[in-house]
Amino acid sequence: MKTLIKGAVVVPMTEGGQGAGGTGSGAGETWFVGSVAWEGNKIVYVGPDGGGGAEGGVDEFIAANPDAEVIDGRGRLVMPGLVNTHTHVAMTLMRNAMDDVPLMKWLNEKIWPLEATLTPDDIARGARVGIEEMLAGGTTTMVDMYWHEAAIAKVVKEEGIRAVLCPCFVDGEKMADFEADLPETLAVAEEAGGRITVRIGPHAAYTCSPETMRRGIELARKHGLGAHVHLSETQDEQAIVKERYGCTPTEYLRDQGLFELPTMAAHSIHLSDGDIEILRGAGVTAVHNPQSNMKLASGAAPVVKLLEAGVNVSLGTDGAASNNDLDMFDEMRTAALLAKHTAADPSVLPAWEVLRMATANGAEAIGMGGELGVLAQGALADVVMVDVTGPHWFPAENDPVSALVYSAKSSDVCGVWVDGEARLRKF
Ligand SMILES: [Zn+2]
Repeated sequence: MKTLIKGAVVVPMTEGGQGAGGTGSGAGETWFVGSVAWEGNKIVYVGPDGGGGAEGGVDEFIAANPDAEVIDGRGRLVMPGLVNTHTHVAMTLMRNAMDDVPLMKWLNEKIWPLEATLTPDDIARGARVGIEEMLAGGTTTMVDMYWHEAAIAKVVKEEGIRAVLCPCFVDGEKMADFEADLPETLAVAEEAGGRITVRIGPHAAYTCSPETMRRGIELARKHGLGAHVHLSETQDEQAIVKERYGCTPTEYLRDQGLFELPTMAAHSIHLSDGDIEILRGAGVTAVHNPQSNMKLASGAAPVVKLLEAGVNVSLGTDGAASNNDLDMFDEMRTAALLAKHTAADPSVLPAWEVLRMATANGAEAIGMGGELGVLAQGALADVVMVDVTGPHWFPAENDPVSALVYSAKSSDVCGVWVDGEARLRKF
């Protein structure tokens, strides 16, 4: 099955960068008017209309593929699927359960007691809602950390999103649950044909003792897995780890050997220069969660400093209980505004950089750089189409990349394909 979107604004995320601008004149800019085609789960054509193109132009492609579905791209924009690199998808169940309180109070008094009552069936129900919310808003990959990931894996398989599932663990009896959940999650992932991968999910430095970390890392090594952890989310966390181990959470996790695994670290807010150097040296991705951080008043991650230091920074919504949605368009805009506000400098974190955090950097974070997060020949066909005819898009041709970050709404998404298969068709 071949699909072609013809005559759209294409934002491939492969070229250009800060200040490159877009002229609509051809490939090599941040955007151009052209076409994207895929066969099965692979992109086979990306090129500007009216000549050029990787395989000699779109008309030749259509002539050579009379069986392809051709979608009129006029008034639409095509971009890589968004990669939400930190969420707890089943926490849709606890959306608005307790708001406007600090993290530790929120966790201790509401979230952890509620989570203790959740069955795998509850978690599957919450996951289904969250996955549908994400697909509808253009997110084609999610990185999830939670309990009973095997139950979430089954829903991922049915709903057709791409996912990195990270069974969570903390000290105490939850460790045994993790040791049971991990092989079950791996088994479902195996059946999903590459759409699901698995990592271990040590909750955080303050909830995982050296012995707990050792057991988790040992299992990761046995199965060849990466890791996904919460890092330096609050000042409380810094103080607890300092008192217990005499070091920063980053140093603690490094000393346990966690960063010898491919690791992504959510939040990454209260980092010293030494911590940033550790993350850079170990190739750890920092996952920025601006809305959750702002809502819980946790602080603002040093995103600009991290990027300048050469750390990969991706973007995530966190769970719906602390956001309170799973909307990556919202998250992009917040990331840009928060960075400018914090730095008192409107030139930091320009739109293209933020879009890259939500696409190509997200792919990089999960070890799929070049395969995902870009529209390029040979990349996986995780494709999103956006309606650009709404009044808030006018005039779209000024700068579609800026519009995606500063003006677009997730409800503008009108087409979503994961692995080449349609998951949303509103056209
Ligand atoms: Zn989280």
